[in-house]
Amino acid sequence: MPLDLVLMGPPGAGKGTQAARLAGERGLAHIATGDMLRAAVAEGSELGRQAEQIMAAGGLVPDDLIIAMIRERLGRGDAGRGSLLDGFPRTEGQAVALEAMLGSQGRAIAAVLVFDVQLATLIERLSGRRVCRAAGHVYHLVHSPPRSDGVCDLDGSELYQRDDDRPDVIETRYRKQWQDAAAPVLEHYRRAGLVHELDAARPAGEVADEADRLLDRLVGAA
Ligand code: ADP
Ligand code: AMP
Repeated sequence: MPLDLVLMGPPGAGKGTQAARLAGERGLAHIATGDMLRAAVAEGSELGRQAEQIMAAGGLVPDDLIIAMIRERLGRGDAGRGSLLDGFPRTEGQAVALEAMLGSQGRAIAAVLVFDVQLATLIERLSGRRVCRAAGHVYHLVHSPPRSDGVCDLDGSELYQRDDDRPDVIETRYRKQWQDAAAPVLEHYRRAGLVHELDAARPAGEVADEADRLLDRLVGAA
């Protein structure tokens, strides 16, 4: 049975950092809607053109575009063993669509990992975040710096600061996306008994240990 997990939390909580590691170690597809949208913007595709301004302003890209993108992604072979859904669903409409998509394949969400971090910590993390051009590998100027300034350790591409990782946009994303749009989604998953909260304010290694213990329990119980 494939293991499908949703990772929720405010921007900068460390979802992508943990998902990238877990995907490699557990053979799950890391499906990050933000990464997919940034790739579409870089390619200059129609989706990218529609998403670019919304993303730069810290808004949410319309549900129909996101749902179509995920439907295509979940259909690819590497998602067959399971998925780590990072940054999706972010609205009630997306949550309903996800259940239908997984249900049509006889699958269901095994758990929702919620990354808890306070706003002041998020601002510090996002202000120092740097991302590589080629593949979106994530660094932090203080907490996980690259070996050589401005260059990705893994593929040698340039590191850049995301347009939406600036203090004013960070606050907009936190309030509109996390406090407003995500609240009913979180409540929905709480009622379904799927939520597991992680104290994600701790160093990445400690968060990883807690996530590993949780996944081991889920796999053991499956
Ligand atoms: P998200 O995917 O939730 O937006 P990221 O995984 O991109 O968050 O992490 C945001 C920033 O914080 C990155 O620069 C990352 O290197 C750094 N980071 C991630 N987890 C931690 C942690 N536990 N402690 C300190 N910094 C972290
Ligand atoms: P992220 O990389 O997860 O921080 O996402 C970056 C930006 O992409 C967000 O601020 C939104 O503008 C957009 N985005 C990513 N995922 C979604 C989603 N599931 N629904 C709507 N917009 C999204």
